[in-house]
Amino acid sequence: MTLEGKVGLVTGASSGIGLAIAREVHRLGATVVIAARSRERLDEAVASVGERCTTVVADVTQAQDVERLVGGTIEAHGGIDVLVANAGVYVGGDIWESDPDALDQLLRTNVNGVVRTVRAALPHMIERGSGDVVVTSSVSGHQAIYWEPVYSASKHALQAFVHGVRRQLLSTGVRMGAIAPGVVLNELWGVSDSAEIEDKVGRAEGIRSEDVADAVGYMLTRPPHVNIRDLVILPRDQPI
Ligand code: NDP
Repeated sequence: MTLEGKVGLVTGASSGIGLAIAREVHRLGATVVIAARSRERLDEAVASVGERCTTVVADVTQAQDVERLVGGTIEAHGGIDVLVANAGVYVGGDIWESDPDALDQLLRTNVNGVVRTVRAALPHMIERGSGDVVVTSSVSGHQAIYWEPVYSASKHALQAFVHGVRRQLLSTGVRMGAIAPGVVLNELWGVSDSAEIEDKVGRAEGIRSEDVADAVGYMLTRPPHVNIRDLVILPRDQPI
């Protein structure tokens, strides 16, 4: 299966996992809309995706931005076949030392932003009787990781959301699943040097954003009767 002739929308796609997913969805044949907050970073990213790629500046914590992003994509491209709700931020460390505003922002982005984006796209997909929704969760959504309790809570919320909405979507033709990576070596961890990434990949301490994108490509190209609900992808030697 390919994504030939389809339209994909990927949030948080100016870097890291989202950008790699956008490239993979494009490689599989789709037209891709990439969204994030920074115009500058989107402009840098778009060229690396390919010719069937456009950008929308949108903050998923802002209701009007999400409406404009989803509505505008449907209007410009005639629909959305693949939604990857990937935008997310990370805050770790002891809770009493964390900035409470940063924690609020994390919950607004990782939970409310994903819920709002998926909520906005579903009526259209249900009406058409087809569509794929993939949410970027984390291994931290499958087990409570003590050094990142709020991040872990946000991804647990996404797991519950995906499992519940997938059940609500039965018989609509729309599929829904979560991709849950372990350590992915990219800007979220302040890693951008390719030699450093390859060194850690060589020791199986982390995986590349492209490894995650490859797994999402797999989820999206299953035959129509198959729904991958959860795919957990870890570096071989990650000790959790
Ligand atoms: P990056 O920091 O490289 O990417 C985050 C992306 O999200 C950027 O494009 C950023 O662009 C965008 N973004 C952040 N806030 C918003 C917002 N409010 N509205 C729209 N876009 C936003 O990190 P990753 O690629 O690693 O993270 C992507 C997803 O993967 C996240 O959900 C993260 O939790 C998840 N994940 C990451 C893992 C890892 O080890 N790296 C492991 C497991 C899951 P901009 O700042 O311009 O908005």
